[in-house]
Amino acid sequence: MPVLEVRSLQKRYGSVTAVEDISFAVEPGEVFTIIGPNGAGKTTTLEMIEGLVTPDSGTISFGPLNWAKNSEQIKISIGVQPQASALFDMLTVKENLELFATFYPHSRPTAEVLEMINLTEQQHKYVKKLSGGQKQRLAIGLAMVNDPDIIFLDEPTTGLDPQARRNIWDIILKLKELGKTTILTTHYMEEAEKLSDRVCIVDQGKIVTMDTPAALIDRLTKEREVRLALMDGEQAASATEQAALRQETVTRTEREGASLKLWTTQPEETLYVLFGFTKERGYRVEQISIREMSLEDVFIAFTGKEWRD
Ligand code: ATP
Repeated sequence: MPVLEVRSLQKRYGSVTAVEDISFAVEPGEVFTIIGPNGAGKTTTLEMIEGLVTPDSGTISFGPLNWAKNSEQIKISIGVQPQASALFDMLTVKENLELFATFYPHSRPTAEVLEMINLTEQQHKYVKKLSGGQKQRLAIGLAMVNDPDIIFLDEPTTGLDPQARRNIWDIILKLKELGKTTILTTHYMEEAEKLSDRVCIVDQGKIVTMDTPAALIDRLTKEREVRLALMDGEQAASATEQAALRQETVTRTEREGASLKLWTTQPEETLYVLFGFTKERGYRVEQISIREMSLEDVFIAFTGKEWRD
């Protein structure tokens, strides 16, 4: 049974549709990652699930619990990473953890949380003296004080250097070993690939695709972009495009004038068929290239946008 299920979530802010239609279910122990460009609706989605923002429509359930009927129970069983700016600068690391622990009826021993976030040595340091990565680890620690089953981390590694990012990955992997469920948002494709059981790509408030990283990469690596330029003008390119689209292995095409791009899972076979077609029609092919797909191409293929970290 899923530990979290969201159906048809929708949220508008005035004329802006932040979330148009988001549905997914997360199984116990999964690291489930929502990835997408700025403004895609990741934070709004998370905030609705965390009970911080009320959806305009749609449902959110944590097993048998929902916000309308069981808000107190949900609050003690989920962990929400606060923004780094919500940390108390004038308190030490340990004091911040102890303060947050007082908000809950049951909490995890502070020493254990410090160990998990690798801040035992810094426990007596004031927050204002911590590095960006240490502050971020403390914020994750604050999401763990009540020993929740589900933890929400909103872009925990944004703006951190590679080593600081890896330290955060270690914490997420430790949470997984403990059997916790983690819902993560990120801008980083590499991070999504390394940590996640499943990745959900969102754009403009909607899910564009959702699968295991392996399946997404598999889809990518199987597909190749083939480019053709024809010497006999637009009509020849258009007829060749139609011939390409008649092949099952061709997933989509784009044409600009006499230049044609197509995506195929069988580039050799596609070219063989297309050469047969152009020869029969007497069209001359000027240029051909086959491009390998990269991981980022999945994103671009689904959203039509360049990938930005
Ligand atoms: P980022 O990666 O930049 O954090 P995001 O994917 O988390 O982006 P959201 O923060 O959910 O995206 O924002 C989605 C859209 O909704 C954006 O256009 C944003 O400007 C708008 N939006 C979000 N919160 C509010 C708000 N409180 N009031 C008005 N508009 C908002």
